[in-house]
Amino acid sequence: MKRSRKIIFVSHCLINTNSKALTSAKHKAYYEGIVEKILKNDVGIIQAPCPELLYGVNRPPMNKEFYDTEEYREYCRDIIEYLLEIYKLYSKNRYQILGFVGIEGSPTCGVSKTHITVNGEPKKVKGKGVFIEELEKKCKEEGIELKIRDQDDIDELLR
Ligand code: SF4
Repeated sequence: MKRSRKIIFVSHCLINTNSKALTSAKHKAYYEGIVEKILKNDVGIIQAPCPELLYGVNRPPMNKEFYDTEEYREYCRDIIEYLLEIYKLYSKNRYQILGFVGIEGSPTCGVSKTHITVNGEPKKVKGKGVFIEELEKKCKEEGIELKIRDQDDIDELLR
């Protein structure tokens, strides 16, 4: 059978909710509806490693300030380097990379919104997570045009 030659990168927890911070998961195992949509469009999925697992599986939910450190950004950049090697491997062989799917509201993988601390409480605000900021920066540096969207904007990548 002829392969679709279409690929999408996704944040780890899109297909493994178990990686999410304690109490953050709204799905049993994966983002239902989103994953099916990708597969129905004959798009292969490349799952990025979860950066926040650096702080363990049983970590509490934290806001962006917690993750906004040079050490964590460096860790994110290592993951990004690995992902962009895969990106280059496929794209130079004429595979279509549709984009990267982030997770809305995440302090790490949020694309349109992230969480910060306001008056000691978590608040969802416009802005990007640390990993997405680093990913955008690296893509710009390397002249890579990778579309990056939150999971609910997946249709913009599948068009
Ligand atoms: S860091 Fe990203 S991949 Fe990991 S749980 Fe948070 S949103 Fe998902």
